[in-house]
Amino acid sequence: MADKILKKADLGKLIESVTGKGGRFVAPTTDSRQIVFKKVKSAEEIATDYILARNSFKEFLFPQTEVVAEFTLGKDTVDMRGVEVHAPQTVIFGARPCEAASLKGMHALFTWDFIDEFYTKREDNTVVVTVGCTKADDACFCTTVNLSPASTEGADVYLREAGESYTVEAITDKGKKFVEAHAAVFGSGSVKADPLVMPEKIANIDLAKVSERLKDKTHYDDKVWPKLTRKCIGCGACTFVCPTCRCFDIVDEGTAFEGERRKNWDSCQYDTFTLHASGHNPREHQHQRWRNRFMCKFNFFPEKFSGKGCVGCGRCVRVCPVRLDITEVMEEFSK
Ligand code: SF4
Ligand code: SF4
Repeated sequence: MADKILKKADLGKLIESVTGKGGRFVAPTTDSRQIVFKKVKSAEEIATDYILARNSFKEFLFPQTEVVAEFTLGKDTVDMRGVEVHAPQTVIFGARPCEAASLKGMHALFTWDFIDEFYTKREDNTVVVTVGCTKADDACFCTTVNLSPASTEGADVYLREAGESYTVEAITDKGKKFVEAHAAVFGSGSVKADPLVMPEKIANIDLAKVSERLKDKTHYDDKVWPKLTRKCIGCGACTFVCPTCRCFDIVDEGTAFEGERRKNWDSCQYDTFTLHASGHNPREHQHQRWRNRFMCKFNFFPEKFSGKGCVGCGRCVRVCPVRLDITEVMEEFSK
C-alpha cells in the first residue's frame, strides 16, 4: 500500500483548505529578518531553510496577554463578567519534534488543580504538524534529554522531508481526522525520506545525576550557583522563548470604575516574581532566581507532572544576551 505524502508544491492548497474551513494556519515565516511562528496566508510566506523558529508556538495556545474577565465597580457592588475563550481552529505547521514534546507538560499544568479553558479549548482546536529535523546547530541538545528529531510526542501529524515532498504519518486521532479532512491535498506514493540529523548527545551530562543532586536540598547554598549564573541580568528572554515555561500573572487593568482582568506571561527571572507585599523577597539574588528556573526544569516539574521541564531545543542558549548556557549548568550538576 502506498504511503501518504504531501507535495511541497501543494502546501498552498493545504493552507487554502484549512483557511477555507475557517481555520488559521501558523507556520515559521520571516519577520524582521528572523524566523518566527506567525499566522500565514500563503505557502510563499513559509520558511523552508530554518532550524527552529525564534519563538515557541506556545503563544498560539497560551497568548502573551489575554483578557479573562471584565469588571465594573458600583458603589457597593462588583460586577465581574467572564469572557468567551478565543479558540479558533488552528494548524501549527513546521514545529520541531523537541518543542512538540513540551505539550504534555503544558497540558499537565493547565489541567492540574483547575481546568484552564483558556488553554484547553485552544489545545482541543489545535493540530500540531511537526517536521523532523534535517539540520541542527550547536545549541540543539534534544538527544541529551532523551528526545530526537524522530520523536513524535506531542505531534498530531509527523512529517519528514523527502525531496520535493514530505512523508506523512498521522500520530493521533486528531491527526488522522486532519489528514482525512484535507484528503484532497494529501496524495499517495512512495518517497524516500531525507536523513534526519541527530544532535550529538552531550557526553558529560547525566540527567539522573542532575536530578539526584537537586533532590538533595544542601545544594541550595552551593557556591556553584553564583559562580555559574552571576552574569545573568534577569532579562527573562530565556523563559519567554522556552516552549516549556508557562508562568503567568493575573492583573487588573482599567480605571477605578471598570476594567479587565488579564492573564500575562511572567518570568521567574524577574526580581518582582516572588516579591512579597511586605517587601521581603525569598529569591532576593539573581542566582537564586536562576537556581529556581533550573530546579523547575530538572526537579519540581518532572517530579510533580512527569512531563519534561526541558526539551533541549536550545532556544534559551541562542537568545541569552550574556551567553549563559543551561547545558553548562547541567554538566556541573552531573559531576
Ligand atoms: S530550557 Fe532552554 S533548551 Fe530547555 S526547553 Fe527551555 S528553551 Fe529549550
Ligand atoms: S536570557 Fe540569559 S541573561 Fe536573560 S534571564 Fe535568561 S539566563 Fe539571564
